[in-house]
Amino acid sequence: MKNYYKSPSSKIEIISFGGDGGLVSGSCHRVNFEGSDKGSGICVDYGLFQGRDERSARGERWNFTRVGDIAHGLTDILITHTHIDHTGRIPMVYKAGLTQRILATETTAIFMKPMLQNSALIQAREHLPNRLYDEFDVDKTLRYLKVVKPYVKVPIGQKNSQITAEFLPNGHVMGANSILIRTTNGDHQEQNILFTGDMGKPQQSLCGGYLDQVAKYPHDPIHILVVESTSFTREPISFEEKRTNLLNEINNVWRNGGNPLLPVLSFHRFQEILEMLHNSQGELIPDDCQIFIDAPLGMTLLDKFKKLSPEQLSNQYGDEADFYKNEDESFGRFNLKNLTVINSHEDSINLDKKLAGYPGKAIIIASGGMGEHGRSVNYLRGYFCKNPKNVVLFTCFQADGTKGAALVHHENVLNGRTKGAKVIKVDGFTSHISGPSETFAFLERFNLTKLETILITHGKNSARSAMMTEFQNRGYKANIILPNLNQKIEIIGQSANTSPYNFSSRSGRL
Ligand SMILES: [Zn+2]
Ligand SMILES: [Zn+2]
Repeated sequence: MKNYYKSPSSKIEIISFGGDGGLVSGSCHRVNFEGSDKGSGICVDYGLFQGRDERSARGERWNFTRVGDIAHGLTDILITHTHIDHTGRIPMVYKAGLTQRILATETTAIFMKPMLQNSALIQAREHLPNRLYDEFDVDKTLRYLKVVKPYVKVPIGQKNSQITAEFLPNGHVMGANSILIRTTNGDHQEQNILFTGDMGKPQQSLCGGYLDQVAKYPHDPIHILVVESTSFTREPISFEEKRTNLLNEINNVWRNGGNPLLPVLSFHRFQEILEMLHNSQGELIPDDCQIFIDAPLGMTLLDKFKKLSPEQLSNQYGDEADFYKNEDESFGRFNLKNLTVINSHEDSINLDKKLAGYPGKAIIIASGGMGEHGRSVNYLRGYFCKNPKNVVLFTCFQADGTKGAALVHHENVLNGRTKGAKVIKVDGFTSHISGPSETFAFLERFNLTKLETILITHGKNSARSAMMTEFQNRGYKANIILPNLNQKIEIIGQSANTSPYNFSSRSGRL
């Protein structure tokens, strides 16, 4: 048997190809293990850069960063979760003719196909001169998807390399995981890397929170920690507070004679909002309120939510662990009274006109959580948002440079006019772990006694610095690195050196 590791101090290289340098999207980390054949290694996530993250200050489009350098010689691509900022560049690999295995849990795999197909569709619709990939590339990609079970050590890397990956559900969104990579040398000495992925909430509707899971987390010492920091500087808001925030905002709009538009991300947030409205009908949402869903991808994904097994779809609602007492109740959580589902684009355009000055109570839930793509654009640009009594209620993270971010930061600038629907960002809707105490309660469920290197990723620089300070204040002696984009970090035991990654002279996109 071939052993690649001579000592626990064997070299490991981690190269950041996204989700770093203060950027939140485009998550992609390549890991090269010493001794493996020329440049072989694995990739954790391969996501799309979104919004302002998409271009460098010099105008380079990061999404086009050479797939050849990122993916050449990889053995596996490991996916933490379905969000497009973690999966959205994967089809480029298969478009380029490479054939790596993609490892994901079943609940991630279920949602990947419609999410990636939608990403291809958006590119086709926008007539981009250089598309990253099309729907055929997505089909090709999915042929290489291998479903793995959580809490099982799956062999990865080259044959006999003794590298394994274990997926650990973490309560971020349906199917989300942290991933523990174990490497073992001939003396059974190990060097373990924990990729937190996007960390979730202690309690979470739909997928259940991480509190349900932590007892199952392994106790192996973590030597290298790659941790996200998106909401580190934000204190958590309770479920009840966020629910009340949303329902109060909706009622305020009605009181002022208008109606609310809720642009939502189609995966998880859409289903979360439906569940919340279902459980509020007859109370803060009166039964005679007309609910319109204009979110084709959201509905496709909803069908898949409804087909999940009882083990996959948690009985948790907010903070209440066993809220749904049986399967009927559990699968009934998305049912709504007075519901109209809009299918065609024409019907969407007509609804915009119809609801612009609608005298009754209505709620429109539309796809396109950042106001960039999807059906919400029809209302943002249409008649609905010309009525100053109507209100746009954003519940999703608004990436810098998106229409949603511009609207949230400059109220009443819809379509460049100074009058029109008001725009409000409703607080508390995040699937990310928030603030130092929640974050460290999660991290310290792992064995961090032998931590040597910490890479703080997936957050603005202010959040990353705050997290670094918190690690230091808590007495961690590890090297702490805030990686830049396209930076290589060489880790040998307790030493870690960083240098810019030198792209090869390999031509073209591969
Ligand atoms: Zn995510
Ligand atoms: Zn993310």
